[in-house]
Amino acid sequence: RPNKRIAVVTGGNKGIGFEVCRQLARDGGVTVVLTARDETRGAGAAEKLRALGVTDVVFHQLDITDASSIATLVDFLEARFGKLDILVNNAGVGGVEYPQELDANDEKVSSLHQFAGLDSNQRLEWMVKNVREPIDAARKAVETNYYGTKHVTQALLPLLLQSSSQGRIVNVSSEYGLLRLIRNEEVRRDLNDIHNLTEERLDEVLDKFLQDFEADALEAHGWPTGFSAYKVAMAATNAYTRILARRHPTLRVNCAHPGYVKTDMSMGSGVLTPEEGARGVVKVALLLDGGPTGKYFTKGEEASF
Ligand code: NDP
Repeated sequence: RPNKRIAVVTGGNKGIGFEVCRQLARDGGVTVVLTARDETRGAGAAEKLRALGVTDVVFHQLDITDASSIATLVDFLEARFGKLDILVNNAGVGGVEYPQELDANDEKVSSLHQFAGLDSNQRLEWMVKNVREPIDAARKAVETNYYGTKHVTQALLPLLLQSSSQGRIVNVSSEYGLLRLIRNEEVRRDLNDIHNLTEERLDEVLDKFLQDFEADALEAHGWPTGFSAYKVAMAATNAYTRILARRHPTLRVNCAHPGYVKTDMSMGSGVLTPEEGARGVVKVALLLDGGPTGKYFTKGEEASF
């Protein structure tokens, strides 16, 4: 088994995930398995890191919503390293349909909109106004941001428990998942009741949310609106993080909100660069043994759920 720590980062081909890979390998002295759902984009990103002088990076394909892709990654890690020290669950989707003419891949976006004059709330308002939220995108957010994260975590747990330090899981989360955004009191209370909360209850909450979404009853039942699926999926991921921390006291399992970051997901509307956003995530990933577990961090500082 290698002495160096091994990290897996999901969605490592761009945005915050790419920067997390770079910083973990460059500053954390960690061997990074950069994963991406698309072979070409992922291999290209690993190549880009090597060109930047960050050599301790290997690419492996991973689509977090695909069980066989997850199983193939597990086989690879078992054979190559026999353990895992750090898992950064970064991959995620916005749960919305972005307007095509404002695709963030198009460099015109930042010049079209004078983000520089807007504060972060105004930028978010602008985002909410410019996206559509069809049910398919909502389902995809639940399936990816919550269930994908959970399935990857479950599959990699045995390897994390083989770590000679305390295996770490960082769920890249969002302030959009904070409980105060959920007006439905029963749901808010249950998600915060970490001593009794179960994965079955989380399934029920997400099912009910999607039913209400379809029935156009989000407001009526106190669900968040504007990126609603993203918010509810992130709240569920935060709750799952706390369940895992309770269940596995030898691991360190935490959530990290990177701040509002200029990436494709935010259509370039964020206020931080990916490098700045990744810093807080990496800080949580590298917290010392015996550090906090089951906690929520915002930009690297512990805060309340
Ligand atoms: P990006 O859209 O730039 O990157 C998202 C990454 O996730 C991409 O690599 C994407 O791959 C990958 N991904 C999406 N679905 C899957 C899947 N099924 N399997 C594997 N990978 C997948 O967004 P960000 O960098 O901004 O987001 C990273 C994380 O940070 C997300 O979890 C997001 O929720 C969170 N976050 C972001 C904030 C922001 O302001 N940007 C604020 C708070 C949280 P592909 O290129 O193939 O699409």
